[in-house]
Amino acid sequence: MNKAEHTVVIGAGIVGVSTALWLQRAGVKVTLIDREGPAAGTSYGNAGILAAAAIVPVTVPGLLKKAPGMLFSPNEPLFLRWSYLPKLLPFLIPYLRTANHADLERIAGGLANMMHDTADQHLALAKGTPAEEFLATGDYLFVYDTEKDFRKDQLAWDIREKFGIEFEPLDKDGVSNHQPDMAGKFDFGVRCPNHGHIKDPGAYTKALAQHFVEQGGNLMIATVDDIKLENGVAIGVETPDGFVDADNVVLTAGAWSVHLAKKLGMRIPLESERGYHVEFVGADVNLTCPVMITSKKFAATSMNGRLRCAGIVEFGGLNAPPSRAPIELIKRNAKEIFPNLQYERIDEWMGHRPSTPDSLPLVGAFAKAKNVWAGFGHQHLGLTGGPKTGRWLAQMITGETPNVDMSPYSADRF
Ligand SMILES: Cc1cc2nc3c(=O)[nH]c(=O)nc-3n(C[C@H](O)[C@H](O)[C@H](O)COP(=O)(O)OP(=O)(O)OC[C@H]3O[C@@H](n4cnc5c(N)ncnc54)[C@H](O)[C@@H]3O)c2cc1C
Repeated sequence: MNKAEHTVVIGAGIVGVSTALWLQRAGVKVTLIDREGPAAGTSYGNAGILAAAAIVPVTVPGLLKKAPGMLFSPNEPLFLRWSYLPKLLPFLIPYLRTANHADLERIAGGLANMMHDTADQHLALAKGTPAEEFLATGDYLFVYDTEKDFRKDQLAWDIREKFGIEFEPLDKDGVSNHQPDMAGKFDFGVRCPNHGHIKDPGAYTKALAQHFVEQGGNLMIATVDDIKLENGVAIGVETPDGFVDADNVVLTAGAWSVHLAKKLGMRIPLESERGYHVEFVGADVNLTCPVMITSKKFAATSMNGRLRCAGIVEFGGLNAPPSRAPIELIKRNAKEIFPNLQYERIDEWMGHRPSTPDSLPLVGAFAKAKNVWAGFGHQHLGLTGGPKTGRWLAQMITGETPNVDMSPYSADRF
């Protein structure tokens, strides 16, 4: 493309902001549009983990047997708003079909290519910007109640090993030394080096967006109602504040991307995996790195004096209000792990993970409109994979070819 051309990026979560910045650095004129402003969506409240090791999707072989029991227990991290089930089926059926060994490897490979160097990608994105202060590099720790529980997770660790994730098993003392605030709680752990975390994902994304503006980027607060096509080519986007001309349009509106894609005639089975956080503000616990509590399937991350406990998968769509049961479950679990936790107040939050049936994002142009680019569907890993997605999109839009097989992320595969 001619770099003087104008690209509109819809959605200022971590994926959209990363894309806008990499395009800007490539010399492209960019307008970033968000209906509420940067980090208004899921990029605000996630667990902050640059989770290169998280290449194993939720749909592991054996899920089909376990899921029904999980749905009926208030102590399991899987919830369903039953009235939503009919709407969920176009996603759920192909999603559950991927719970087999061949798909597990295929998905893990796609995720690994996107996530393996996440800490470096964040450094490249944030270095020299005000966002850099929120970025920490280091370990990611998985903890298990017993070594037997770790053995039950062997398949996941075999897959990680296969795709080059480094890790080191720790015994009870090793875990206690690594995380003194959890001393004696877990018999077994696995330390994954070369990871990182973001100490405040919302502030980080906003700081990156602010940097984009300071470098001459145009940030617009407006809802994009439609992407206007003429003869199969996008010419701009409709907003209540008027029409914005564009030579390229990038759709990075997270879980809401599905609405605009539908207007272009594409039915993408994108679903929200609703997730929650409970944040203990002023917590007297300070974890040295993010910790995944595998038995409870939630992550605990210390963020500048706050302890954020995040997790849960709830299917219930984009419009239903937050449920109480997931929040109460996280609180119970957190209090079990940190029984003496002192804090000033609790903040609660729900967000929408944009999830596809094959747990891989859509990154690339749509066949129906070749100057409309998808950058959504990062499910549990949008913070981890956002910068790389932005870099790939900027390369493709400016006529370069990323040196990776992009077919697993094809925008037209559904
Ligand atoms: C509990 C929880 C914990 C998580 N923990 C992690 C983690 O530790 N590590 C990790 O990598 N990932 C994590 N994730 C996932 C991660 O947060 C998401 O994958 C990521 O934030 C998605 O980013 P996004 O930019 O695609 O979407 P969002 O951040 O949701 O951004 C989409 C933006 O689009 C805007 N928008 C929507 N529609 C329109 C429209 N029509 N016009 C204009 N603007 C519009 C919204 O306002 C929003 O700002 C977690 C998620 C949850 C829920």
